[in-house]
Amino acid sequence: MFKALMVRKDEETGKTSAAVEEIGLEDLPQAEVTVSVEYSTVNYKDGLCIGPGGGLVRKYPHVPGIDFAGTVEASDDDRYKPGDKVVLTGWRVGEAHYGGYSQKARVKADWLVPLPEGLDTRQAMAVGTAGFTAMLAVMALEDHGIKPGPVLVTGAAGGVGSVATAILANLGHKVAAVTGRPEQAAYLESLGATQIVAREEINETVKRPLESETWGGCVDAVGGAMLARVLGQMEYGASVAAVGLAGGANLPATVIPFLLRGVNLLGIDSVMQPYDNRVRAWQRIAKDLPMDKLDAMVTPATLADLPQLGADILKGQVKGRVVVDVA
Ligand code: NDP
Repeated sequence: MFKALMVRKDEETGKTSAAVEEIGLEDLPQAEVTVSVEYSTVNYKDGLCIGPGGGLVRKYPHVPGIDFAGTVEASDDDRYKPGDKVVLTGWRVGEAHYGGYSQKARVKADWLVPLPEGLDTRQAMAVGTAGFTAMLAVMALEDHGIKPGPVLVTGAAGGVGSVATAILANLGHKVAAVTGRPEQAAYLESLGATQIVAREEINETVKRPLESETWGGCVDAVGGAMLARVLGQMEYGASVAAVGLAGGANLPATVIPFLLRGVNLLGIDSVMQPYDNRVRAWQRIAKDLPMDKLDAMVTPATLADLPQLGADILKGQVKGRVVVDVA
């Protein structure tokens, strides 16, 4: 028997509740690789899956946790053998499949990535889906050319934003960090931000489709009115990597920045990302994310803390990255 965070749904009221339970290997879904999970983490999507489901959870009871890192315990696939260190993000694990909030997980070999050299399992989950996605966003900006102006990071004190800020600053870019939490300014500066932009300065509905050309690139975790506004502030030919919707899924924008300034809007998906690009992103993380900066982002947690943390992240109240020690 081992511990897992189990979410159950009351069929009468439709309400969900999450608690740590003891389960057995027979409770896990069938798949090729059994992993002894060491660490997981808390992403925005986890908040939905621990709580109301957000349309992501397919059936109950359910074990959330959209990512994990650990050691292979048993494998029916030649690519993995007992003792291998692995990391998993995406593939709807923790949504449609049992996830990482469990001391053991059983998953498809295709979904795993060998732990990159230079990272341990705890550091891999300090990065987690949020940080992995931040790296994908930076890679997409690089592929399209980052312009000279500061790179804007929205939702900067959150998980995606913190990792994007640290990576971009380490790569030598000036980083402007948008936050709704002015008390996190010193934290963002410690990650390498050179400019703090108040959320309300940039959160208003677009009034003029083009404003002065200010940003050389953008990693956007917020979406909604903020993304619409940012599009009109990009330098000529600059790109915005659209990662998240913490501020809304709508996009009340005009096409003018695309047509008159050649601005690019790049979509970033971490869930179905092809294997080769996953490996490339994890290698870049090991090389380009300073580990002291990563440590400064981390709040440690246990399985028992997850119901509260899930609610907190949905309210935008989690700073940086949470690392869940599932032991
Ligand atoms: P976090 O909650 O850690 O970060 C989101 C941040 O956005 C908050 O910390 C806050 O930053 C800011 N924010 C929250 N609410 C609002 C609001 N109403 N208006 C403006 N800003 C707001 O979440 P994650 O970093 O884990 O994820 C960020 C987003 O990226 C989520 O929408 C998530 O679903 C998405 N995502 C997408 C992935 C993909 O594959 N495309 C993968 C991973 C995440 P501050 O306090 O600094 O303002």
